[in-house]
Amino acid sequence: MASVTKDQVLAALADVADPDSGQSVVAAGLVSGVVVRDGNVGFALEVDPDRGAAMEPLRKACESAVERLPGVLSVTAVLTAERPAQGRAQDQGHGHGHGHGQGHAQGRQAQAAQQQPSELLPGVKSVIAVASGKGGVGKSTTAVNIAAAMAAQQVRVGLLDCDIYGPSIPRMLNLSGQPEMAGERTLRPMANYGIKCMSIGFLVAEDTAMIWRGPMVMQALEQMMRDVDWGALDVLICDLPPGTGDTQLTMAQRVPLTGAVIVSTPQDIALLDVTRGISMFQQVDVPIFGVVENMSYYVCPACGHRADIFHHGGARETAQRLGVDFLGEIPLDLEIRTTSDSGRPIAVTRPDSPHAASYQHIARSLVDKATSATSGAGRAQPRIVMM
Ligand code: ADP
Repeated sequence: MASVTKDQVLAALADVADPDSGQSVVAAGLVSGVVVRDGNVGFALEVDPDRGAAMEPLRKACESAVERLPGVLSVTAVLTAERPAQGRAQDQGHGHGHGHGQGHAQGRQAQAAQQQPSELLPGVKSVIAVASGKGGVGKSTTAVNIAAAMAAQQVRVGLLDCDIYGPSIPRMLNLSGQPEMAGERTLRPMANYGIKCMSIGFLVAEDTAMIWRGPMVMQALEQMMRDVDWGALDVLICDLPPGTGDTQLTMAQRVPLTGAVIVSTPQDIALLDVTRGISMFQQVDVPIFGVVENMSYYVCPACGHRADIFHHGGARETAQRLGVDFLGEIPLDLEIRTTSDSGRPIAVTRPDSPHAASYQHIARSLVDKATSATSGAGRAQPRIVMM
């Protein structure tokens, strides 16, 4: 069957009316970033952030219109908001918390009542967020290597790339192409090295991902949980976007997290970010499983001399001071970088190396913590930490 073209997609969408303007969604300028690859179609509907929740029927109508075209295998339409939301629009649809703390806790309860975690991720036993206070600290590299170490330990593991703005997991797992359909409306995750993976990078062109703003990011995130056939998983690792802003906070609310890991470099500035990361998860009652210090020290490959370039050990001290566990340290190492950047994570390619051993150790601790958090009473009670 001939593959569908972008023009055919736009023609199909020209029959869908925008209820607000009465024009077609194409004429109203709502459709952007159409990508068509081998019968898999992705596009964005740019809507006013204030209309977010009300636009869901329109999004579905657009998907259905394109699905009817011959040659279409899958359709993914995502609501996006070009303009940054005013105020705390991210909170729309799940409570009206204006401040932090209590407002968010209430928001979380409202959200839980509205969408049970089991509905979003029915076969997944535990979900672990990997977060960092800022970009470039090696959060994605750590997430990928931990996932690879878990897979090697026969843990059924998935990796959800929540970084809508700059998805890097497909490259790090050497995955490209598009997910196949697993059912009428469900995508099968991609997989490599025994890790199931879903990323917005599979669905839309990179430049499209970059324009996404505000609350509609949550729409894409929920689709990557709900509309993906994750199957039975012991652990789903969520690589959050770097930072501790409203987007990350809302993600921490929306994703049914069992616990969170904070990745940090040892520099003092980054440690401030650790504190922010910890308090972000505490605001939404997600237990902190611990802190990983990445690029912790440097071992000279020529002479074996170990140099603590950035006052190594800072993350351990910060973790102790804040009453959270220190999970381990990963050195600054050229091989970690080259393997990560070329899609061959060191935990897979050199499982007997000392670096892989560090990731294996962290992976084991996390599986233990996730298992005890999900057994018995379920989510651990939030702890009061003096700061
Ligand atoms: P983040 O997700 O925090 O933005 P990445 O995982 O993308 O960071 O890593 C940023 C860069 O640092 C990448 O080029 C990666 O290969 C490199 N990197 C990450 N961890 C290490 C490490 N322990 N040693 C050397 N390079 C690393």
